[in-house]
Amino acid sequence: MEFNTKLLHGKAVRKYADGATLPQISQVSAFQYDSAKEQDEVFHHKAAGFAYSRVANPTVAAFEQRINEMEGGNAAIACSSGMFAVTLSLLNMLCAGDEIIASGGLYGGTIDLFEDLTKFDIVTRYVEHMTPEEIEPLISERTRVIYGEVISNPSLEILDIRAVAELAHTHGLVLIVDSTTATPYLINPIRLGADVVVHSTTKYINGSGNSIGGVIIDSARFPWDFDRFTALNGYRSFGKFAYTIRLRTDIWENMGGCMAPMTAFLNVIGLETLGLRMKQICSNAEELARELSQIPGVIVNHPSLPDSPGHALAMQQLGGMGGGILTVRVGSRERAYTVIDRLRYAVRATSLGDTRTLVIHPASTLYIRSSEKQKQIAGVFDDMIRISVGIEDAADLIEDFTEAIQSTAHRTEGEKA
Ligand SMILES: *Cc1c(COP(=O)(O)O)cnc(C)c1O
Repeated sequence: MEFNTKLLHGKAVRKYADGATLPQISQVSAFQYDSAKEQDEVFHHKAAGFAYSRVANPTVAAFEQRINEMEGGNAAIACSSGMFAVTLSLLNMLCAGDEIIASGGLYGGTIDLFEDLTKFDIVTRYVEHMTPEEIEPLISERTRVIYGEVISNPSLEILDIRAVAELAHTHGLVLIVDSTTATPYLINPIRLGADVVVHSTTKYINGSGNSIGGVIIDSARFPWDFDRFTALNGYRSFGKFAYTIRLRTDIWENMGGCMAPMTAFLNVIGLETLGLRMKQICSNAEELARELSQIPGVIVNHPSLPDSPGHALAMQQLGGMGGGILTVRVGSRERAYTVIDRLRYAVRATSLGDTRTLVIHPASTLYIRSSEKQKQIAGVFDDMIRISVGIEDAADLIEDFTEAIQSTAHRTEGEKA
């Protein structure tokens, strides 16, 4: 099955209760049983069934099965937000004293989280670029995990999953990949060697910007050394499934970051059109990047452009597509603000992966807590606009951005004269 067919007719797509074509929204907290014995069996995982929606819910399970199939994983666990998915993907396997190696160009919220984790004696070592050459010297006795993003944002570098997975596995380390900006439409990190994949479903998977959510997908392929990964020690008997089982029956359940049934339902609907939206979004982004890069005095970054840092790996790993995010540098913060204010279609809002095009000035919003050095590593500049391209018609987007940029160019020159 090709991608779009699989979204609608894959193994994980079932006939739902009462023959419904979509999973019903099980908007309940608890499930009732006819006898104490039945309830006992469900609680002991001896009989199939649901007990309490923090632990399992049919609508959430339907979403988990469908996203898991699209990523080629062994199991998926849906979370209340992308940040909770990121948090638990790590806490599920780390103990105090363990170390993470990650890129300095990660999503800002993840960098802030890694700072929080230092209070629990989980320390992150950062590289400027996620290459095996930069990562290897930072590996120590304490390192347990390498953490990267498939398409970093806003620097738009692309992770060489195959190469980094090989390095990780040579040293007995886990590779966790945040694939939010790539989605399963562009890549299945597990097929290239990643051990665990996380998504903020808030973005492209939901697709309409109507709810916050996240998901963790476990490949169940990592050969856990339980003497090194002591957090999983109590799950030895589950072998390669230790990560999933601990997550599901212990830390995720106990920390209480479950996805709401309504969110899971909206994510199932979103997932069904992921392929259509990503096709339009990627082609729009490519066209817009190409057109804007012709305008003198602006610097455009999108992995489809030959001089983008992500270009070679986008060709190799993402089927030549560069995703839906591009950045434009216009020379000054003032001009960036004016361009943003003049846009007719693009919406001035944070987030990404919406149906509509979203724009933001990252330096004055998403990165206000970062130092100059952190911004430099993250590829954030004062004159940079980030565009999350939507599904509008490319011609309208091109006209909107071209007019906004060109009209401000005149003004800037006039002011200087
Ligand atoms: C948005 C985002 C997150 C966090 O997700 P939330 O749903 O906002 O909690 C994590 N990683 C990346 C790459 C993101 O874009």
